Formats: sequence, C-alpha cells, structure tokens
Amino acid sequence: MKKLIIAIDGPSGAGKGTLARTLAARLGYLHVDTGAMYRSVAWKAAHDGLPLDDEDAIVAMAARAVLEQSGGVITIDGIDVTRAIRTPAADQAAAAVARLPRVREVLVARQRALGANGAVVMEGRDIGTVVFPDADMKIYLDASAEERARRRASDTAHTGVQNSLALVQSELVARDQTDSTRAVAPLTLATDAVYIDTTDMPIEVVVHHVLMLLTDKLLD
Ligand code: C5P
Repeated sequence: MKKLIIAIDGPSGAGKGTLARTLAARLGYLHVDTGAMYRSVAWKAAHDGLPLDDEDAIVAMAARAVLEQSGGVITIDGIDVTRAIRTPAADQAAAAVARLPRVREVLVARQRALGANGAVVMEGRDIGTVVFPDADMKIYLDASAEERARRRASDTAHTGVQNSLALVQSELVARDQTDSTRAVAPLTLATDAVYIDTTDMPIEVVVHHVLMLLTDKLLD
C-alpha cells in the first residue's frame, strides 16, 4: 500500500487530535501533533526564562531542542511536558511563539523531515498549506465555536479549565482569531482540502468518512 502524507488542519477543538490519532493507529502511520511542538517550545522558553518576544533566543533554543512524541507522551529535552503544555496559559504562549516567523521555519523543517518518507498523519494549522502543500490528502476539520468550547471544557488532557463555558469559548475564539490573522502561515482552508464540519458528527463517523475518502488513494 502507498505510504501517504495526510494533512489535518483546523481550529482548536474541531477534533483534529482524535481524528489524527485514530487514523494513524488504523493505518499504522506516524502521528505528528505539530501544536504540541509549538506548545513545548513555549513551555521551554518559560522554563528557561526567555521572553516570548525574544525571537533570537527562542529560535536558538528551538533549533537545539530534542522534541519527541510517542505513545501520547510529549517531551522536550527529555522532560515530560504532556500535561504542562495543556493549560490556558500554555494555549496563549504557544500561539505567541507560533507568530515568530523564524521559530516556524525551524519547526516546519522538522515537520517536513518527520513526514519525508510518508506514512504520516500530521495535524496543525498550516500542514496542507505550508508544511506539505503536496500532501496526498488534506482534511480541514471545523465545528461551531459552541461545540468546540464544549469539547475543550470536557477534554481531560486540558488542565486548569474550570472556567465557565462562556470564558472557554471566548478564549478559544480569540486564539482562532490570532491564528487566522497572523502574518505568517495563518490558519486557512487549502483550496484542495476536504472541508468537514464535525459539529453534529460523532468522531467515529468522521473517521469512517475519512477512511472512505482514503480508500482509492491507499490502493493507488
Ligand atoms: O493545535 P494546538 O491547539 O495544540 O496548537 C497550539 C497553538 O500552536 C495554536 O493556537 C497555533 O497558534 C499554533 N500552531 C501553529 N501551527 C501549527 C500547529 C499549531 O501555529 N501547525
């Protein structure tokens, strides 16, 4: 079977993580969560006392850092940050780091290396537009802001979300706004992506739908 590059983009809480993880497990592919890479770099910047607007220092740190993801565990330089990177403060810090063009260059180069041999499901904001514009399959997942906030608030991987649903939703919408309007690699729908609104779709239905879309490509 062909070793495809599958790109999954979309805003927070649209279901990218669950879809990417499930597809990778079903196909025996590598799953790469690029958001976790931006989150880990932001975590390490705070850990090292680097201001989030000191691009030179953060680029140098990101270029040296050993970033690993395996079995749901995220590490940077050997430190397990799986839980620490999923807090409201980490959401903000990751989005701030992701606005730095040279930090993106460093991480995009790593993402391309991870997917160079195919057999990869990569999720993020710019995978189908920037990282792998020639991906074999591009999926753009979306859902209403209300539904995405509800999912985020009940996501046990995200800690420190005891706030009201209204606050979770307003923070999520604010982050979507910065991710979609930033100068470099904004979140945008690739012209050749398959758009799926998951608001009223259970994740199993989404997975089944995408596997159907992949059938022909896998057998090519
Ligand atoms: O996907 P997740 O919510 O973990 O991503 C955290 C932040 O990292 C996003 O809000 C976005 O600013 C940034 N990001 C990005 N490009 C990616 C993945 C994530 O800019 N490919």
